[in-house]
Amino acid sequence: MPALIDLTGQTFGHLTVIGRAPDRFTKSGLRRTQWHCQCDCGRTINVDSQPLRRGEQKSCGHDRLGGFQRYIKKHMTETPGTSLAQLNDRPPTTNKTGYRNISYCWKNGKLYYRVELQYQRQQYHGGLFLTLEAAIKARDELRRKVWPNYKDK
Ligand SMILES: [Zn+2]
Repeated sequence: MPALIDLTGQTFGHLTVIGRAPDRFTKSGLRRTQWHCQCDCGRTINVDSQPLRRGEQKSCGHDRLGGFQRYIKKHMTETPGTSLAQLNDRPPTTNKTGYRNISYCWKNGKLYYRVELQYQRQQYHGGLFLTLEAAIKARDELRRKVWPNYKDK
């Protein structure tokens, strides 16, 4: 077995090595050194030394899914209760979640829904949520609080 080379801090494509991950054992019982990597897109994954150093693995796999946008879309369709019709809301032009005042946010390798709305040039933050349902609830509460005539809108 070759001597262990510390890859911490090195970047391989989209991946930056944060540190050593627990060794992995293959089906045939071989020990594989793994590295904990942070991908540009925000996810963290563990990668074997070899594919990393050979440049065979350059991202968390979001490339394979046809880009980050498609990854997001996939994530959304897999999240229950995300139909637009159900919400009876106008689809937005800029944000990517499909819901007004709710956008995606990566934090510590997790995908959150960020609730924000503007009223009279003021920005109001509703917080980060792991589920769209919770984000919608928080957004509606924030709207009620911030927009005086919310019911009429
Ligand atoms: Zn990625």
